[in-house]
Amino acid sequence: MNGAPDHTDLLVVGGGIAGAGVALQAARRGARVTLIERHDWASGASSRSSKLVHGGLRYLAQGQWRLTRASVQQREQLLRELPALVRRLGFMLPHGPGLNPGRPTLQAALAVYDALAQRRSRAWVSAADASWLVPGLHAPGGASVYDDATTDDARLTLRVLAGARRHGARLHAYTELQALQRRGDGWNATLRTPEGHRRTLEARCVVAALGAQLGPWAARFGLAAPLLRPLRGSHLLLPGWRLPLARAVAWQHPADGRPVFAYPWLGCTMVGTTDLDHPDPDTPPRISAPELHYLLHALRAVFPRAGITAADVRSTWAGIRPVVAGDGTPSAQSREHLVQAGDRLVVLAGGKLTTFAEMAQQALDLVQPWLPALHPAGAGLGLADENADADAFSWENPCAPVVDADAWARMLHTDPVQHLDDLMLRRTRWGLCLPAHGQRLLPRLQRACQQALGWDAARWAQECVRYQRLVRTDHGLPADADTDARTQESTR
Ligand SMILES: Cc1cc2nc3c(=O)[nH]c(=O)nc-3n(C[C@H](O)[C@H](O)[C@H](O)COP(=O)(O)OP(=O)(O)OC[C@H]3O[C@@H](n4cnc5c(N)ncnc54)[C@H](O)[C@@H]3O)c2cc1C
Repeated sequence: MNGAPDHTDLLVVGGGIAGAGVALQAARRGARVTLIERHDWASGASSRSSKLVHGGLRYLAQGQWRLTRASVQQREQLLRELPALVRRLGFMLPHGPGLNPGRPTLQAALAVYDALAQRRSRAWVSAADASWLVPGLHAPGGASVYDDATTDDARLTLRVLAGARRHGARLHAYTELQALQRRGDGWNATLRTPEGHRRTLEARCVVAALGAQLGPWAARFGLAAPLLRPLRGSHLLLPGWRLPLARAVAWQHPADGRPVFAYPWLGCTMVGTTDLDHPDPDTPPRISAPELHYLLHALRAVFPRAGITAADVRSTWAGIRPVVAGDGTPSAQSREHLVQAGDRLVVLAGGKLTTFAEMAQQALDLVQPWLPALHPAGAGLGLADENADADAFSWENPCAPVVDADAWARMLHTDPVQHLDDLMLRRTRWGLCLPAHGQRLLPRLQRACQQALGWDAARWAQECVRYQRLVRTDHGLPADADTDARTQESTR
């Protein structure tokens, strides 16, 4: 934080989509905002989600009307304001013996879904049309179709951060909140900088958007501990050619009836997801062997002839949902968010990527008494005039910046990274989408990285070792998965 002032109106802690949304809205409304993130931007749940911008048909089935309505309305707003970054995605739900829910139930739910979005997208297609739209899909009873949307969650977060920066917010990655102490009319925050130094920042008020890490912090903030239940969700990414899809397919898992899906994403096919307790949020989330087999089992139910095995998996990721705790199974937990005010402090957790703007608005309503000079909220998200070309670039051809080395060297200058994995896993998705986590690209990236980031050869070597270890542990197959599959994986 060299050169930054040591006073701020609002300190936002947590550089996921929730913290980014708060920083953007507060900066737009005239506050002096400082946002800190202990790792890279979006390195928590906000780069590890299922990347759907959706109302969540299953939340409707659970009777979560408010959440579904807010989500579909925000989906439509994001589609309008960020058309290059948030894209409409057609969904298909196959029908037939053993495939639930049946057509009448689903069509009734979709009618409500359409009504909430004030846009009709539902239809039913015959078995013949279903197999034409999604070759190889097992849908003997035809299929229901409707629209939702998808995005790149990390890029969405980066885009919101870019907006916050443009409105004057100061953003500091790799800067950790270590302690908070109440003083006069605000807080003293003790921060650990990227260089390992301790700094004190005085803030008139604080918004803590710590995701799954909120639980342990609540008591230190002097708040009643919010009851969060950390739940892990894991995903597989297959090469697009191995299961080519032009739209999403969603169905219920044959083993437990949970919703699962497969859909096209950045030239690959994503399969998800699981929902398991992950009691220690400080343990990095990784897919386990049972989750891998659960997702492969799901694929066999509706793509029986595709013969997808662990050997087909290109990469994996898992994230932790900080879900507001209730009774029942993980999947039955509400995806509503939690916004709670303390003494010049607001905590924000749970919810969804899709509803980040609503969460930010509610957090700022609680902050307003301590920052009475906040301007009234402006219309829309305030992002429309950001650089949409960059978004389109990354969607259409996720590897294009490698070809155009100048373009991505410029990107590193304007949006520097601390580590190679920041570049490979979040600024770009090369580490997930390319064979062998993009290892073959590394020699081509070396010179530009060293020039743009000032890394010497020793630093480059360290970064490569760090990256390779990370992708092996967090983005490969589980250590105890079938070893034949892991051997083959490195060549795909
Ligand atoms: C498996 C999975 C699938 C999902 N799928 C969808 C979906 O399809 N659609 C959807 O809308 N939503 C989805 N979600 C939900 C969505 O991803 C989350 O609600 C959202 O990303 C949470 O954002 P956040 O900012 O609250 O948390 P995070 O993104 O986790 O950010 C919290 C940040 O706080 C930082 N932090 C913690 N402690 C400190 C500290 N002491 N100092 C500084 N920084 C700190 C962390 O490093 C982290 O980056 C999914 C979530 C998961 C896990």
